[in-house]
Amino acid sequence: MAVGMAVDITIPAFEATPLDDIAQIAATARSSFQSQKTKDVEWRLVQLRKLYWGLTDYTEKFQAALKKDLNKPPHDAILTEIHHLFQDLDLTLKKLKDWVKDDKDIDYPWTFAAMKPRIRKEPLGAVLVIGAYNVPLMLSLAPFIGAMAAGCTAVLKPSENAPATAMVMKEMVEKYLDPSSFFVVNGAIPESTALLNERWAKIFYTGNNAVARIVAKKAAETLTPVTLELGGRNPSFVSKSADLALAARRLLWGKTINAGQICLSQNYVLVQKEVVDDFIKFLNASYHEFYPSGPQSSEDYARIINERQFDRIKKMLDTTKGKIVMGGETDRSDLYISPTVVLVDSIDDPMVTEESFGPVWSIVPFDTIDDAIRLANTVDSTPLALMTFGSKSENAKILDRVTSGGATINDAWMHGAIATLPFGGVGESGTGSYHGKASFDGFTHRRTVVEVPGWMDKLLRVRYAPFSPADFKRHLWLTGNRPGFDRDGKVLRGPAYWLWLVFGLGGPSAKGALLRWTVLFASAYAAFFQYRKYRI
Ligand code: NAD
Repeated sequence: MAVGMAVDITIPAFEATPLDDIAQIAATARSSFQSQKTKDVEWRLVQLRKLYWGLTDYTEKFQAALKKDLNKPPHDAILTEIHHLFQDLDLTLKKLKDWVKDDKDIDYPWTFAAMKPRIRKEPLGAVLVIGAYNVPLMLSLAPFIGAMAAGCTAVLKPSENAPATAMVMKEMVEKYLDPSSFFVVNGAIPESTALLNERWAKIFYTGNNAVARIVAKKAAETLTPVTLELGGRNPSFVSKSADLALAARRLLWGKTINAGQICLSQNYVLVQKEVVDDFIKFLNASYHEFYPSGPQSSEDYARIINERQFDRIKKMLDTTKGKIVMGGETDRSDLYISPTVVLVDSIDDPMVTEESFGPVWSIVPFDTIDDAIRLANTVDSTPLALMTFGSKSENAKILDRVTSGGATINDAWMHGAIATLPFGGVGESGTGSYHGKASFDGFTHRRTVVEVPGWMDKLLRVRYAPFSPADFKRHLWLTGNRPGFDRDGKVLRGPAYWLWLVFGLGGPSAKGALLRWTVLFASAYAAFFQYRKYRI
């Protein structure tokens, strides 16, 4: 990481953007997009490089803000927020010139080759990004990087529940980025509502499913596309074939980082009955290893964001019928909840039915892997993440039969820690993905373009009136499909199929057909010369 320039470390008090300013901000973002300046790739790169320096200079201030908002340890602030953004930014800066190039490696019938079909990558326009409180910097700026890279102008609405980080982001964006193209609007529901009343080319929302429905309904009024990054009740599986000590240690990590306020962390762990007791022993051993003097006095343990979320999580502990087998301490005045595991005997327990989004989780015992799969699919058929610790075949079976936004084998949510790979949910846990190239794609319109040469008009005769049966027949002969399958859906493997595969024009791709015909003509050509030689 580069060395930053000194920045005043004082964190500004939270201040909502005046409601009256919001329409003007949105209008400026739209007119800046209309000015065409963001379409220049060099311009985008300069903005992204400025963001790089902004993040570098503000690293310490962001660490302080995250500490203030979530008691996030500075170590975690680097790992899960700042370093993550640098990785994403680094890839984007290196690859953007490739990503913006027209896509020509595309499939089309060979008869269209002369039209040079291609796909242009075009920015969607002025976009809105709404961030969440738990990883308030990364969840806001990672989509923002995608919007900038794609050539959009963007307005960011960070979570008001992480007010210090929201204010520092505003300060940094205003200091480093183009002031007519990139904005931070701070505030809560009134400001979000005012923003949603504006016209956007895309809305990118991270947060809970209830608000996602408000966002999606509002977007539907203007047919605005949305990406929704939501939560879920993520299952984890531990079978008797797993390395129990490793599974316990890793799952405890997954639920203690940021005090469990990680959308990807396990909500409940399905543990094979025979190993439940041992697994609990290993969990407690790791707990004491991580926090020898207890988590509350540890510098390495975060706090719950606010009283509202504290009360929500505490209610899960108060209403469970299960037994606490690890942790269980709470202190509202300190917004502290210790990492807590509850052994339950039903998936109807609030510890399973509610999304914890905190450091508490449950263990649900199971008999067979098939039972565990059935239970997981009953609790939530489209969670954001899935984690499994078992034999190779057990892991493969679980991966095959339980869907999720992403999955990790033999660890807690590591798939989400790779900053450059697509990240997103499925069904109730969200739609669309981002990070790395996926962020660029998410804010890009893929525009198909063809260029039809004048000389092709003779070949295009078939489309003009008066229609000619002869032209039509020739056209169908050239472009018609010959299926490689019968009416029962079976692939044809007879001689006719092979002949069709080698010599047929209607192959699966234009390149394939061209190759086959090149081979055919080359053979005919060679045969002709052989024949002439023979005659002489
Ligand atoms: P939050 O309270 O920070 O809210 C998220 C955003 O929604 C904020 O910017 C907030 O101002 C805005 N908002 C709130 N009410 C609104 C309204 N009526 N209209 C428009 N905007 C409104 O965070 P949260 O929603 O409580 O986040 C927790 C949830 O988000 C959990 O379910 C968690 O799993 C999920 N989450 C998902 C991801 C992911 O990447 N998939 C990441 C973080 C959190």
